[in-house]
Amino acid sequence: MAEELRGAPVARALTEEQAARTEQLKGAGIEPCLAFVRVGERPDDISYQHAAEKRCAKAGIETKLFALPEDVTQDEVEATIRSINEDSSIHGCLMFRPLPKTLDEKAAAAALDPAKDVDGITEGSLYGVFSGSRVGFAPCTAAAVVAMLDHYGAALDGAKVTVVGRSLVVGRPLASLLLGRNATVMLCHSHTKDLFAETRAADIVVACVGRPQMLTADAFRPGQTVIDVGMNYLSSEGRFVGDVAEEAKEIVGALTPVPGGVGAVTCAILAEHTIEAAERTKAEA
Ligand code: NAP
Repeated sequence: MAEELRGAPVARALTEEQAARTEQLKGAGIEPCLAFVRVGERPDDISYQHAAEKRCAKAGIETKLFALPEDVTQDEVEATIRSINEDSSIHGCLMFRPLPKTLDEKAAAAALDPAKDVDGITEGSLYGVFSGSRVGFAPCTAAAVVAMLDHYGAALDGAKVTVVGRSLVVGRPLASLLLGRNATVMLCHSHTKDLFAETRAADIVVACVGRPQMLTADAFRPGQTVIDVGMNYLSSEGRFVGDVAEEAKEIVGALTPVPGGVGAVTCAILAEHTIEAAERTKAEA
């Protein structure tokens, strides 16, 4: 039976270390602060906001909500983001997505200063991730996968890692972060031939596909570490499942649960990036 790699202990350990860093910043007169930009009242956004507020409070980070009505104009969204850019008491900004279809999400993201882009949505942040430079931040989910692997002691240097999914939110930035840690990365997608041969060949498999339980027993071999990023709602069963089928538990060495795995670490990474953004302003002062 696979070891269960739960997210909660990872988030707890990160928060403990962050609280000490926040104290240091406060001692230097800097109160780390994260702004949320929320358009409308989507229940998913509100529950993510509440989880992030709780996690930030534990780490000693202030939060500020910029709640905009569903019928807000593009100009108003961008003006709000620019006001956050200009407010030196705010260090990070999370804009909940997707925005309503009436708005241009790409243009709204482009208005954000990469220095405050703690969820890696700007081109500046992607440049930072792909070039390995300190511009912006990686998307929180991609960074959460690396934090989980680190917490549970997975050796990345020289490891073969197969990432299934190449979105700009998870798969691609994750591949780049893993390369930065000297892993040998195979990045798979919907055109990959013999996908299961690629997953079986890896020491570590990361599933970020968005297809319920697509990676069945044939995708795995004993001893592998598997990180399941998938969060797929099965309305017929009224529950979330991952991209990895439950039978994988009987085969692999270690596996993250869904829910309770990577998702539980994402807010702790958001807090981590906000503290780092505040630390960068201190270094620049
Ligand atoms: P996405 O933008 O839809 O990307 C899915 C990727 O999977 C694409 O690259 C796609 O390939 C690939 N793919 C689709 N079908 C495939 C197949 N049959 N074989 C191989 N590859 C296939 O999704 P995403 O935003 O990256 O999210 C992925 C999953 O992670 C979702 O379940 C989402 O809910 C979850 N997620 C979880 C968190 C969290 O905090 N836990 C955060 C974000 C996302 P192509 O590029 O060729 O189309």
